[in-house]
Amino acid sequence: MKLDSQIPSGPLAEKWDKHRFDMKLVNPSNKRKYKIIVVGTGLAGASAAATFAELGYNVSVFCYQDSPRRAHSIAAQGGINAAKNYQNDGDSIFRLFYDTIKGGDFRSREANTYRLAQVSNNIIDQCVAQGIPFAREYGGTLANRSFGGAQVSRTFYARGQTGQQLLLGAYSSLLRQVASGKIKMFPRTEMLDLVVVNDRARGIVVRNLITGKVSSHAADAVVLATGGYANVFYLSTNAKGCNVTASYRAYKKGAAFANPCYTQIHPTCIPVTGDYQSKLTLMSESLRNDGRIWVPKKKGDTRPPNDIPEDERDYYLERKYPSFGNLAPRDISSRSAKEVCDAGYGVGHYKGKGVYLDFSDAIKRLGVEVIKDRYGNLFDMYERITGENPYEVPMRIYPASHYAMGGLWVDYNLMSTIPGLFVIGEANFSDHGANRLGASALMQGLADGYFIIPYTIGNYLARSGNSDINADHAEFKVSEKAVEEQTKKLLSINGKRTADSFHRELGHIIWEYCGMSRNEAGLKKALEKIPALGEEFWNNAKIVGSGSELNQVLERAGRVADFLEFGEIMCYDALDRKESCGAHFREEYQTEEGEAKRDDKHYSYVSAWEFNGVGKEPILHKEPLVFENVKLSTRSYK
Ligand SMILES: Cc1cc2nc3c(=O)[nH]c(=O)nc-3n(C[C@H](O)[C@H](O)[C@H](O)COP(=O)(O)OP(=O)(O)OC[C@H]3O[C@@H](n4cnc5c(N)ncnc54)[C@H](O)[C@@H]3O)c2cc1C
Repeated sequence: MKLDSQIPSGPLAEKWDKHRFDMKLVNPSNKRKYKIIVVGTGLAGASAAATFAELGYNVSVFCYQDSPRRAHSIAAQGGINAAKNYQNDGDSIFRLFYDTIKGGDFRSREANTYRLAQVSNNIIDQCVAQGIPFAREYGGTLANRSFGGAQVSRTFYARGQTGQQLLLGAYSSLLRQVASGKIKMFPRTEMLDLVVVNDRARGIVVRNLITGKVSSHAADAVVLATGGYANVFYLSTNAKGCNVTASYRAYKKGAAFANPCYTQIHPTCIPVTGDYQSKLTLMSESLRNDGRIWVPKKKGDTRPPNDIPEDERDYYLERKYPSFGNLAPRDISSRSAKEVCDAGYGVGHYKGKGVYLDFSDAIKRLGVEVIKDRYGNLFDMYERITGENPYEVPMRIYPASHYAMGGLWVDYNLMSTIPGLFVIGEANFSDHGANRLGASALMQGLADGYFIIPYTIGNYLARSGNSDINADHAEFKVSEKAVEEQTKKLLSINGKRTADSFHRELGHIIWEYCGMSRNEAGLKKALEKIPALGEEFWNNAKIVGSGSELNQVLERAGRVADFLEFGEIMCYDALDRKESCGAHFREEYQTEEGEAKRDDKHYSYVSAWEFNGVGKEPILHKEPLVFENVKLSTRSYK
């Protein structure tokens, strides 16, 4: 396998313009001769598909939900970054680029991250033109708020429902093209294999989730926009359906998987309440603008929070990181919460795994109406889930699995190691390094979909020409058979445990050994436990119902089978990286103050793993990271 990042030469700020000029174009009247498959209808997939169709390509779009607008992007709360500098507070494209690359602990490509900052401003213009109801100032200009890891206010938002509003915009554009006939939409359809013919991605095999029918779809290029794999932890802030299946099956067909051990544990989630919970809820990072995080100074203090006097509280983020305070980046805030709870200062009913997020100061300063206006829906959601009123008592929060920085490896054109297979949005690894800053996932999804892939896919199609391969080709039949056989095999196990119980156990293993902090002994233990659990799954899972009806037990079992294999790659990756960087905290590599200790000399590379057979250690390929425009420094938020 050869990793060629295709980064254009020339000065950083000119690379994207130069590259666009060097690209080959597809003549407008030839575009209708090409067919593109897009899997996924979140912000990345919906924006890409709508733009392809608008350009004149024929597009087939797939998602497993009943409607494209139920993609998990709908859940995003806090906002989307852009370097508009409306606040006149010192922002610029370079500063957004720098914050993002530093936030990722210098483990992402300069060229990709810079381009993301460059196109961020186009996204806001596009979305405003679509009618997205971003929050506005009194005079009508767009409002901004701050997010973690930045000292400027550059986050555009629509109350706590930014993802929903942005997705409705992209979805409307998508449906316009469905109505015009340029997009054929396949909801409730799950991609279960990628078909590669003569070393090029030529299509997919899918299963209709209502009838169980397996079918093939051929195209000139395939785009995966299938989201992240944070649900490998079982408990996460992601929608229950989020999974790794599409990416993992593409990996099995030859696409390299990059940095799988970089997963983000978000600091502000509603804490776990018991052993039978299946989902966690995020409290948006935007709350850290006005909420102050603290724990009692006394271990095991069970007094109600409002009875604990000010001088008996430890505002530990403000104490440890005075310049960023409660807006320290996510990895640092999460680890700090774990640290105080592990040391016995945690609060709440469940194993003391909680810290307070307190709005009393902000309410005193700004008044309850202002707080309601900014975060009303989040406060309501918190109260509905916990039965506590956060206007009166502090919220309780704890870190939870939230986002995957790792994903399929892509070059500067967002193409994977399989020619013709493109990967966008959270499903790729490209822009966030070892830690993503808040409000930058929506930015990346829409940058990829609206402003990057429409150019790069054209370049690919213009150079490779259209395909004469259709879904009758033998490779499609081989894939269809494999998919049908896996369904039969799952249904025939007839054991005693539910697929969910295996998933829960896998989640415990990953959380314990490959979660917020990792060490060599733990990772090695996980690499013994996961294959054993996988073996038990294939001998003792009970999957009820049939394969020819809507059967969510069967759907989930297929996804759990992939998570079980994928969990091993995460551990191999974490084991290889003998340094701490961003969200990857190896306990053996920390400073005396307990901060992450990077090793730029030996680990300044992207890890790209190649499939080597089930149960076998994958093959590691390294893409060196070259920094010409930023100085690698120790990340400090003090
Ligand atoms: C609770 C929450 C709040 C967040 N808030 C913010 C925020 O404020 N700002 C921010 O920047 N980021 C936020 N994020 C992160 C952000 O929402 C996601 O990273 C982003 O929306 C992912 O978009 P996507 O298009 O890549 O994937 P998704 O929106 O996850 O879409 C994936 C699509 O792929 C489809 N799919 C997946 N597998 C298959 C398959 N095998 N076959 C067919 N279809 C398939 C699904 O049906 C779906 O349509 C938040 C995340 C969470 C969990």
